Amino acid sequence: VVETGTPERSVVTTCAYCGVGCSFEAQMRGDELVRMVPYKDGKANRGHSCVKGRFAYGYAEHKDRILSPMIRERIDEPWREVSWDEALAFAADRLKAIQEEKGRRSIGVITSSRCTNEETYLVQKLARAVFRNNNTDTCARVCHSPTGYGLGQTYGTSAGTQDFDSVENADVVLVIGANPTDGHPVFASRLKKRLREGAKLIVVDPRRIDLVRMPHVEAAHHLPLRPGTNVAVVTAMAHVIVTEGLHDQAYITERCDTEAFADYVEFVSDPRHSPEAVEELTGVPAAELRAAARLYATGGNGAIYYGLGVTEHSQGSTTVIGIANLAMLTGNVGKVGAGVNPLRGQNNVQGSCDMGSFPHELPGYRHVKNADVRAIYEEQWGVEIDPEPGLRIPNMFDAALDGSFGGLYCQGEDIVQSDPDTKHVVAALSAMECVIVHDLFLNETSNYAHVFLPGSSFLEKDGTFTNAERRINRVRKVMAPKADYADWEVTQMLANAMGANWTYRHPSEIMAEVAATTPSFAGVTYDLLDEKGSVQWPCNEARPEGTPMMHVDGFVRGKGRFIRTDYVATEEKSGPRFPLLLTTGRILSQYNVGAQTRRTANTVWHDRDVLEIHPHDAENRGIYEGDWVRLSSRAGETTLRATITDRVSPGVVYTTFHHPDTQANVVTTDNSDWATNCPEYKVTAVQVAPSNGP
Ligand code: SF4
Repeated sequence: VVETGTPERSVVTTCAYCGVGCSFEAQMRGDELVRMVPYKDGKANRGHSCVKGRFAYGYAEHKDRILSPMIRERIDEPWREVSWDEALAFAADRLKAIQEEKGRRSIGVITSSRCTNEETYLVQKLARAVFRNNNTDTCARVCHSPTGYGLGQTYGTSAGTQDFDSVENADVVLVIGANPTDGHPVFASRLKKRLREGAKLIVVDPRRIDLVRMPHVEAAHHLPLRPGTNVAVVTAMAHVIVTEGLHDQAYITERCDTEAFADYVEFVSDPRHSPEAVEELTGVPAAELRAAARLYATGGNGAIYYGLGVTEHSQGSTTVIGIANLAMLTGNVGKVGAGVNPLRGQNNVQGSCDMGSFPHELPGYRHVKNADVRAIYEEQWGVEIDPEPGLRIPNMFDAALDGSFGGLYCQGEDIVQSDPDTKHVVAALSAMECVIVHDLFLNETSNYAHVFLPGSSFLEKDGTFTNAERRINRVRKVMAPKADYADWEVTQMLANAMGANWTYRHPSEIMAEVAATTPSFAGVTYDLLDEKGSVQWPCNEARPEGTPMMHVDGFVRGKGRFIRTDYVATEEKSGPRFPLLLTTGRILSQYNVGAQTRRTANTVWHDRDVLEIHPHDAENRGIYEGDWVRLSSRAGETTLRATITDRVSPGVVYTTFHHPDTQANVVTTDNSDWATNCPEYKVTAVQVAPSNGP
């Protein structure tokens, strides 16, 4: 990238970081990338970008890129560079040998929500059609799998209900467990504009995120709940709405399952769910919670935006259900300016779930036990599909440790750094006979791999990403793959080395197969995407232009379904040994484990994770600003610097997980969501003590 001179042509593509899905123009001179600029006609970003996306091209050309396949017999041996043929034959032979010894369910795949739809479709097809099992999972497991469950159960499909434009008609915005100014900056700009115009804001978050108090923006209510008590807060809001008669009875009678509603009213009216009854548990002043509930119910169009502070809990799915209940109670689904909007962390979380990468679902959220759905793919792929759901990521780790699982193809995901309870992950990988890492850089996971397959960056391939508003955006190849092959080609070559005969020549052919087999994508073609710029699914014969807003004429499942939301305390409790609660998040300039952002020009602004600690807790421990501290939990410990701030409440500490030097997930535990196994990253009982440094 030269960042200077006059471009001759431009290629419109999509940012590979967060779920906003900003469009960029890659300005080219010959085959040289001159600069990346936000695309003014991008429907998600309208010419804006954040600092991460603006500099994202940097990692594509970084010197750390691995450009040759590598293998090694054992993980304590040095890597050996080999040809693609040798690496793929080595991997295929090992995987086949494991299956011969342990059975066909003994190997699996993990794909990243950073990969394109087409890549993800092929990876789950590799598991189902070539490995002949359903051992396919995605890193959406560790972020938004509770969204899939909660919205599926209540509304009938796992998808945000609105487009981003909808926020321009919101009157009250409830942000819960999300920090848009850091995590989804371009959407946050649109939200702040609406707030400056007069919309009211309610923030539910243990930490005083920037939106609570910014120039010209101030939340009407901030509910600084104790980590782990989302369900109690959301249920208490519903209690206020129902017991004060603020619910929209006409909407509920027309649109919802009234029997389920009657049961829910009986549940939620119980005085044990009142704000006063849960005040001690949640730490939220009852009067403030009551006022927030009244505002949401009576303030006009009510829009809910939520993030991983909702999902990454032992009751993540229950909170999603509680949020869905709130929106139905107030008639805030199926109209503009309202809705339930999961802010997806990664660029293609929505798409990776749509494409069937979960072990129980084929593409389009159809259960693998459904013989009619299996028949569609059996005819398309010419193989019989295993009717048994496969292993989720944590189950793969457990199976590796009991000796029944021995081979893993991991595409674009550094599970050692990003998954919880690092020691457990490392032990599981160390027990496997064949770990294949397919990535841009050597990473923490590749330390335990036998095969390394070089990946291609978003600039080196064609495909599509689906953003948080279900918008399918084109990813267009700007430069040739530096390691010769795009990721979808590598997956195809691995499948063929295992004995398949795949013959895709371009990702558009993969999308054509998706469209032929998945009703919500039936009308999606690359020609349509080129013509319209992007399209939101469902896009099919009934909705050829796509669908900006869901559930307009009725819920996807028919009648919206209220479900009880019993609060169950997490097992992760503070106590004498670990008296503080740790919660984690992101900062604006870094992205997840930082594999890309640390290798771009914006890196200089933040170069380490730090621990936020309240002045009282710091004083009690003799900790001063900038001190090294030891952060320990029952899972492990790490060392980082402290910053003293009242953004966090007493008893709560906060850090990010961007830097491998910190490895914050050493301390997070193996607790997980009851319905989906999404890890409970957001609540860990910890101790903090002064330290001399790492
Ligand atoms: Fe847009 Fe997100 Fe990329 Fe920033 S990181 S440019 S908000 S898609």
